Amino acid sequence: MPGNVTVVDHPLIQHKLTLMRRKETASADFRRLLREIAGLMTYEATRDLPVETEAIQTPIGPMDAPVIEGKKLVAISILRAGNGLLDGILDLVPSARVGHIGLYRDPDTLEAVEYYFKVPVDMEDRDVLVVDPMLATGHSAAAALERIKALHPRNVRLMCLLAAPEGIAYLAQHHPDVHVLTAAIDSHLNDHGYIVPGLGDAGDRLYGTK
Ligand code: URA
Repeated sequence: MPGNVTVVDHPLIQHKLTLMRRKETASADFRRLLREIAGLMTYEATRDLPVETEAIQTPIGPMDAPVIEGKKLVAISILRAGNGLLDGILDLVPSARVGHIGLYRDPDTLEAVEYYFKVPVDMEDRDVLVVDPMLATGHSAAAALERIKALHPRNVRLMCLLAAPEGIAYLAQHHPDVHVLTAAIDSHLNDHGYIVPGLGDAGDRLYGTK
C-alpha cells in the first residue's frame, strides 16, 4: 500500500461500516452511521494538528493550557455525497469552516469539470480536510485537491469511507503529499466505476434518490 494512506480500522468504525454496506439499510440509518463514522475518523484525522498554550485561569488557579494553533480547520465536501460526512466533523470541531466543491465528469473527455466552488476567502495557512465517502477512480478527488492546493493551505488531507486500490494509486501518483484516511480499501472498481464490494452509490443511499 502507498505510504500516505491510513486505514482507520477501529472496531466501532468497522462495525458501523458493515451496517452501511448492507443493501437493506435504510437511508436514515445510512446517514446516521456515516455521520458517526465521520466523527470517529475526524479524531484520527486531526491527531497531529499543532497546538500552542494559552494562559487561562481555572477555578483553582492559573495554567498554560493547550489549544489548537492557527486558523480554523476547513472541511471541504466534494458534492454531493461528501455532505454526508460534514456533520460528523462539525460535531467534533464545531468551529471548523466549511467549503463545497462540485465536479461532474465530462462524458466526452472523461475529465472532471468544476460547476461549483465556495470556500473561505482566506485559505492560506489553514489545515484542510477534503471529504468524499467513495474514493473510486480518484479523478474528482485529484481535481478538487489541485484546485484547493492552489490556494496555499498549510496542509491538505483527504478523508473517505471506502477506497478502491485504483483511486489510491491515482492519488499517490498525482498528489503524493496528501495523506488519505479511509475506513477500508476494497477489492477493485467494476466496469461502471463502482467500488466492489463497496456499498453502492453513496449519494443515492444517503438521499434516497434511487
Ligand atoms: N461513487 C459511489 O457512490 N459509489 C461507488 O462505488 C463509486 C463511486
